[in-house]
Amino acid sequence: MNIIMLGAPGAGKGTFSAFLEERYSLPHIATGDIFRENIKNNTELGQKAKSYMDQGLLVPDELVVSLVADRLSKDDCKAGFILDGFPRTLVQAEALKETLADMGAQIDYALDFECPDDFIIERMAGRRVCKGCGASYHLVNVPPKQEGICDVCGGELYQREDDAPETVAKRLEVYHKETQPLIDYYEKEGVLKCVDGTIGRDNVFKVLAEMLG
Ligand code: AMP
Repeated sequence: MNIIMLGAPGAGKGTFSAFLEERYSLPHIATGDIFRENIKNNTELGQKAKSYMDQGLLVPDELVVSLVADRLSKDDCKAGFILDGFPRTLVQAEALKETLADMGAQIDYALDFECPDDFIIERMAGRRVCKGCGASYHLVNVPPKQEGICDVCGGELYQREDDAPETVAKRLEVYHKETQPLIDYYEKEGVLKCVDGTIGRDNVFKVLAEMLG
């Protein structure tokens, strides 16, 4: 099963991907996580990506397209994958289609998690992420058992730099302009499924389980 996760930043794509990863034993490929890992390790890719990310802008297509094509060629993607945060532009969507066609594969589901902007802004303000394992929390909705500490690995929780309110506003603007058109694109491809992203994590899990079997 080949799945794409669509939706605005903060719509819950990472959380829902982790659920699908566990339920269907599929690799979870999150381009944002790959960039953050590269920044942490101070690689050339990380250095190039950082300035765009800090401003709430998209990393240029050519940097992300080859990275994803390379990742999809690995053996663990043969039985399927979850792409979280890619594609984000029509150019990326077309490139993905070509990469998959070369592999004799295609997208089975493009899941769009729908959330209004004001909901996203509130959610991002409270989001905290583990420095160690990347697990995501919310100060009010999904608080860790111990303040500032990850339940999963005991790592330190922090607020992503790009979750600052002014950067979130920019990311939403970029989302509406560059990424939202993908909803029509995948509807035309016949693989779009819309999910209300505001109904709470466990309810979304139930919807996904019913939808995908
Ligand atoms: P995310 O963790 O998915 O919210 O991604 C964080 C940031 O990484 C984004 O705001 C972009 O700057 C960059 N990024 C992640 N995925 C992509 C992509 N597919 N295309 C361009 N930039 C991306």
